[in-house]
Amino acid sequence: MNTVEQQLNMQKALYREIFLKSVDEIQKRLEELRPDGVDGELLDTYASESAGRKWQEKALTVLNDEISHDVYRKLHEILAYREMFKCQGCATCCRLACSEFSPEELKLKAANGDNFAKQFTSVFIPYESIEEAETVYPEYIELLRGKVEGDVYFYHCPKLTEDNRCSDYENRPQICRDFPDNPLAVLPDKCGYRAWKDEINPVALMLHSMVEIIDFYKEKLKEVL
Ligand code: SF4
Ligand code: SF4
Repeated sequence: MNTVEQQLNMQKALYREIFLKSVDEIQKRLEELRPDGVDGELLDTYASESAGRKWQEKALTVLNDEISHDVYRKLHEILAYREMFKCQGCATCCRLACSEFSPEELKLKAANGDNFAKQFTSVFIPYESIEEAETVYPEYIELLRGKVEGDVYFYHCPKLTEDNRCSDYENRPQICRDFPDNPLAVLPDKCGYRAWKDEINPVALMLHSMVEIIDFYKEKLKEVL
C-alpha cells in the first residue's frame, strides 16, 4: 500500500471514529437540557410555548453560545499554531484539487447557498483530462484510479502564476487561507505543513466533526422552531 493511500484511508477511518464520538458527546449535552415530562425527541414538532419547544430553544442557544464558541476558539488556536510552520511554495494545492462533484454539480450547490462550493467555484476550474491532472501529482492520481467509489473530478486554479505565486493573494477565498485545515486533505511529503497537520490531526478532526454536527442540529432546529 503506498503512503498516500495509507494516509487517505487512515484519515477517513479516524474521522469516522471521531465523528461518532462527537455525535455522542453533543447528543448527551443536548439531552441534559431535556425538561421533565418531555418524552419526544429534540427534532420532533412541538406546540409553541410547550416544554418541548422550550427545550429546542434552549438547545439552539447552547449550540450557538456554548458549544460553537468553544469549538471555534480551539480551531483558531490550531490555525494560530500553523503560523509556526511555513509553506514551501510548491503550489501542489493550487494546481490540483479533487472533488466528488462535477463542475455542474458544484455550480448548482453554490447557487443553492453552499459556502464551500461558492468559494471553490470562485477559483478552481476543471482539468481537461485525468492525464493533464496526472502531471501534477502522479502518485495521488494513481491512488484514486480504481480505488475510490464513484467519480472524482480534478481542478486547478488559473490564478496561479508560472512562478508558483497567487496572483490574487489579498482576495483569495477562505478555503485557501485555511488550507490545509481540511479534514480530508492529503498533503504531499514536501508540504511545509505536513508536520503541523500530523501533530494537530486528531484534535482538528474532532473539531471539524463537531462543526458538522452543530450545523446539522442548528439547521434542523430552525426548521422545527
Ligand atoms: S502543498 Fe503545502 S507547501 Fe505546497 S504550496 Fe500547498 S501549502 Fe504550500
Ligand atoms: S486563489 Fe491563490 S491561493 Fe487560492 S488556489 Fe488560487 S492561486 Fe492558490
